[in-house]
Amino acid sequence: MSEVISEITFFKDKKSEEKTPLYQSKLSSYSPNVSYHYNPRVSEYHYGVKHPMKPFRLMLTDHLVIGYKLYEKMDLYTPKPASKDELLEFHSNDYIEFLERVTPDNSNKFAQQLKDFNIGDDCPVFDGLYDYSRLYSGASLDATEKLIQGNSDIAINWSGGLHHAKKFEPSGFCYVNDIVLSILNLLRYHPRVLYIDIDLHHGDGVQEAFYNSDRVMSVSFHKYNGLFFPGTGNLDESGVGRGKNYSLNIPLNDGIDDESYIRLFKSIMEPLITSFKPTAIVQQCGADSLGHDRLGCFNLNIKAHGECVNFIKSFGLPLLVLGGGGYTPRNVSRLWCYETSIMTDVNLDSKLPESLPFRNYFNPDCSLHPNLGDKLDNKNTKKYLENVKAKCLEQIRFLNGAPSVQMNEIPPDFKKLTPEEEAEINELNNDGNNEDRIMRDIKDEARNGELVE
Ligand SMILES: [Zn+2]
Repeated sequence: MSEVISEITFFKDKKSEEKTPLYQSKLSSYSPNVSYHYNPRVSEYHYGVKHPMKPFRLMLTDHLVIGYKLYEKMDLYTPKPASKDELLEFHSNDYIEFLERVTPDNSNKFAQQLKDFNIGDDCPVFDGLYDYSRLYSGASLDATEKLIQGNSDIAINWSGGLHHAKKFEPSGFCYVNDIVLSILNLLRYHPRVLYIDIDLHHGDGVQEAFYNSDRVMSVSFHKYNGLFFPGTGNLDESGVGRGKNYSLNIPLNDGIDDESYIRLFKSIMEPLITSFKPTAIVQQCGADSLGHDRLGCFNLNIKAHGECVNFIKSFGLPLLVLGGGGYTPRNVSRLWCYETSIMTDVNLDSKLPESLPFRNYFNPDCSLHPNLGDKLDNKNTKKYLENVKAKCLEQIRFLNGAPSVQMNEIPPDFKKLTPEEEAEINELNNDGNNEDRIMRDIKDEARNGELVE
């Protein structure tokens, strides 16, 4: 695979002298310069035989992208791994040094750290863990850089989007939070960044990093019942201090279908973008919100998921597109290939290319659009969704007069939590329970069920 990639990798800077106007939403003439950031090595790591996270899904995605010849429509980059200093822009030194040093062979020497850093079934120590984290993070940083330089209008990294990782520890299959690192870089040049998360799970790591900032608006659509991983993401989590109202959560129940998801998504995102006026957008496209996902409980089809990304693209703002969860690899790769085609304005034949390697893996239908919407009952009543929407719109009304910051206020304010804000975030993590350990055990237990297929 790497030979194929290097043959078709090329570099262009044709966009650098142009300035992309804001809000081209209704213009069909928007033809963005798209870049694709993928280092094939990132797909070669293994979390473990029984672990649902399969980096080989990235290889399948890339085969589809290449099979459909989408490389003709994008600038392709093979990014280098992130440096240690780049990881330290967000993560603590102790934690990153631990990731750097620990291996399956020497992990018995790290008993205390394994405990401190919450290493276990979800986030195991596996061979090459540190390099894997640097690779997917490096790709996000490379994509971010192309947006900042104006070389790309839309930059894609399907290996990124690991939204659960925290400053001091891994969480939910995520070790380094490439999204936070990318947003921190965008904030050096952009006054306001919008983060949108359509993974099945709450984007807790990103929300927490910018919870007291009014320069990053974090929006997450996800399954929520208080116990489902990561346990956060209720409507009332809306930010603290200057960040009050700059976190928006859309908690959903099992089985949400295409029509209700798209309608809710658009009816919230349009007024939000109009009020917040972001100058750059980061979209996490977690594929576990698809129907039939191994860990999933929604009923979304690939076209519906893609329509959400298409809608955000239509605003014509610099857009970083990232992957995320997704545990039925053949559907993950179908989705991300389809979303790549949306970004590049190409209509794809539903029938997968005959020349596609691993084509049998997509049996029996060999289609880009299998029916994924028929598995579960929709537990989201019209009334429930109307209520969620009304509460979100109420919160969005508080955003009028988005802050216009002095650019010398960067780097951002997330480092400057007041003791009160710190306490509020801690309380959030504990879900109102002071016994941190007890809550974590309950959450882990809920997660265990997901690990068994
Ligand atoms: Zn997820």
